[in-house]
Amino acid sequence: MAYTPMMQQYLQVKSEYQDAFLFFRLGDFYEMFFDDALKASQLLEITLTSRDGGQADRIPMCGVPYHSAAGYIDQLIARGHKVAICEQMEDAKQKKGMVRREVVRLITPGTHTDGKGLDSGSNMFLGAAEETASGYSLAYADVSTGEAAARHIFGGAKALIEEARSLRLRELVVSDQLSLLLSGMDQELILSEEPGADAPAGDERVAGCPKELHGSILLLLSYINRTQKQTLPHIQPFRHIETDRLLSIDFHSKRNLELTEPIRGGGRSGTLLWLLDETATAMGSRKLRQWLQQPLAERGPIEARQRMTAAFITEFFTRDAVTDLLKEVYDLERLSGKISFGSANGRDLAQLRNSLLKVPAIIGELTGSDSDVLRAFGAELDPCEEAAELLTAISEDPPLSPKDGGVIRDGYSERLDEYRYASRNGKDWIAQLEAAERQRTGIKSLKIGYNRVFGYYIEVTKSNLHLADLERYERKQTLANAERFITPELKEKETLILTAEEESLALEYELFSGIREQAKRFIPRIQTLASRLSELDVFISFASVAEKYRFTKPSFHDGTAISIKEGRHPVVEKMLNRQGYVPNDCEMPEDRNMLLITGPNMSGKSTYMRQIALTVIMAQTGSYVPTASACLPVTDQIFTRIGAADDLTSGQSTFMVEMMESRYAITHATDRSLLLFDEIGRGTSTYDGMALAQAMIEYVHEEIGANTLFSTHYHELTALSESLDRLANIHASAMEQSGKVVFLHKMKQGPADKSYGIHVAELAELPAPIIQRAHELLREFESDRKKDIQQEPAQLSLFDDGGAQSEAAEAIRNARIPEMTPLEALQLLNELQQKLNS
Ligand code: ADP
Ligand code: MG
Repeated sequence: MAYTPMMQQYLQVKSEYQDAFLFFRLGDFYEMFFDDALKASQLLEITLTSRDGGQADRIPMCGVPYHSAAGYIDQLIARGHKVAICEQMEDAKQKKGMVRREVVRLITPGTHTDGKGLDSGSNMFLGAAEETASGYSLAYADVSTGEAAARHIFGGAKALIEEARSLRLRELVVSDQLSLLLSGMDQELILSEEPGADAPAGDERVAGCPKELHGSILLLLSYINRTQKQTLPHIQPFRHIETDRLLSIDFHSKRNLELTEPIRGGGRSGTLLWLLDETATAMGSRKLRQWLQQPLAERGPIEARQRMTAAFITEFFTRDAVTDLLKEVYDLERLSGKISFGSANGRDLAQLRNSLLKVPAIIGELTGSDSDVLRAFGAELDPCEEAAELLTAISEDPPLSPKDGGVIRDGYSERLDEYRYASRNGKDWIAQLEAAERQRTGIKSLKIGYNRVFGYYIEVTKSNLHLADLERYERKQTLANAERFITPELKEKETLILTAEEESLALEYELFSGIREQAKRFIPRIQTLASRLSELDVFISFASVAEKYRFTKPSFHDGTAISIKEGRHPVVEKMLNRQGYVPNDCEMPEDRNMLLITGPNMSGKSTYMRQIALTVIMAQTGSYVPTASACLPVTDQIFTRIGAADDLTSGQSTFMVEMMESRYAITHATDRSLLLFDEIGRGTSTYDGMALAQAMIEYVHEEIGANTLFSTHYHELTALSESLDRLANIHASAMEQSGKVVFLHKMKQGPADKSYGIHVAELAELPAPIIQRAHELLREFESDRKKDIQQEPAQLSLFDDGGAQSEAAEAIRNARIPEMTPLEALQLLNELQQKLNS
């Protein structure tokens, strides 16, 4: 038996969209069949039914109403699926037999621009990658805003995946071969295969990028064309990301430093972005996020940005005035996107116009300021007058749907005005008729109403019927307590009014569509304006934040030395409400550019290291920094590695991951990089970890020469400063107060006091013989260690809760010292020693 014609049509369409849920339009529903229906009914929790398809077995089916489909689409996309929207291309009422159906759009995670998941503060990137001779080329675009860029990735597929994660690509378009390779390496990456043929090779949007990158760009454009079924003019020329002109921060470092997302996930509270973002627009917020993720690495451009920040600090009246204006500027980038998609409604166009109308005032504020850089910036802004002019056609407060009328303002089109006049006039006439009829009949409650079935009618209540002019009135409808009538003249006017209204709506929609189409011409100019305004917004935010948190302007030099006076971790400081945050200096001259940081747990080592990295990053975005003063080199890359034992992100973090991340850092770092190694090597047994840590320090010292901060709980490593001349020890200080350890959070020169634990034990009034013996043993351990590192234990520190000593520490903790005789105490100590030596 053959399938019914409709099922045949379905199967034909479905065969081209195997990897998507096919939403097949049937009247007011989108229906799904077969496997799609089985899966979707589960995922979306909708009822699974079945349908006769001409075969013995019924076909599984489920559906969602057309008007509420958006929510279901959101859900499927959020889970990484694709949805093909298949519409009826002909009016079912007018067509006999089967209507033609076509997929009008394939919605994918990277192209879903109108979903709820669209966050105004961040970009949603769709990527495409292709193999090149020396690595990969990667192109990516935000389909909602049109921003597009491409870069080369040196290295293997691993580096490509890192970058994809770093950019938070929603979807990566690749060839089928590459798809096979990548899917084996990263299950979370959403991959789409694209043969890549139909993008015109002459597309000028590739022009700004080297030839090597064209393949991935064309692949991306081709995918967009194929899925969106239109060439989207708002996708901008691809910007070439020249990695050597930017400060590169790999995925792990971004995460560890909590630049834009907190380690523990959710929201952005506690991140650097959260602290710095006082932008007035969503565009500004996205720009700031981009800048934080990709700071500059050239002095000239950095200093140019600094001048803008500085100008807004002094010109605070201009800053306030421009901020107020920016608050009234809508998201020009996403509005351009909607125009490009043809999905902009009247309100969108009104918002665009109202935003553009603010620009002359912004320009006026800037050009009228006392700052050269602001005047120059203002003079270069393009107010896009022609676009604003075009959009004056749109009424002040249009309704959501352009088909409801009221979108075009009065006075724009003579013909439209005539229709409107006729319809308004007709309505006035009806109001007058009502008054006249009331008077003539003396029925005060007489009224003229309208409904879709009968049109205009005169309504008289039953109690007043005897007064009605039944000779002229023609009965039309009887209600419980009223009668409805019509008159010939009423019907005549009705025709006039209704035709005028119908014509007026049709004409309005035509005019509206025309304007929306014409607006496409201005998209590139509006996008440029949007980009400039978002920069302005970021500079203003930098200035406000600098003032609020007492940041200062960092200076740059061409060497590699770091010199920071009274640096702070801006986020921790904010969390502590500024109270009690202890500022710290950081001096790393060229001949002493590796610091080994020791100190007890919770003494502030990690915070210190992070604050230096954050200062470097902020400085290279053009922001001021949380220091009393800072003189910095231009850093090319930052690597932050956190020992697995200290890694908060997940229980899954293993020593292997720690080592892989370290390897990545060490193989990529240069002498202009900043390396932060926080308790590396802690994830394995003591000697093992210590040996690795030492080897890494030596390697970085000898082979790389990067500015390096290395925190460690392996006290033994502090001896390295004797053999490595650029390595210096510093430590996080602590002291005792009323029998408690107090962390001073102050970094001091030299290694931490090794016998710190014994001092604390002394403070706790452990019997004197124990203390004495402990000191003795410590000295022994130390000299033994020098003899043979492989056979001796590491230090016994009360603050060391990791590795082999934890058992011993536990025993000491549990010991009831006051109840012990000195001998018993000595026995315990002896036992502990044996345990540790075994
Ligand atoms: P460590 O890495 O040495 O274990 P952390 O850097 O994690 O210590 O710091 C522990 C806590 O101490 C932080 O969460 C913070 O609250 C506080 N802290 C760190 N540095 C400072 C500082 N400079 N001033 C005030 N508090 C600090
Ligand atoms: Mg730490």
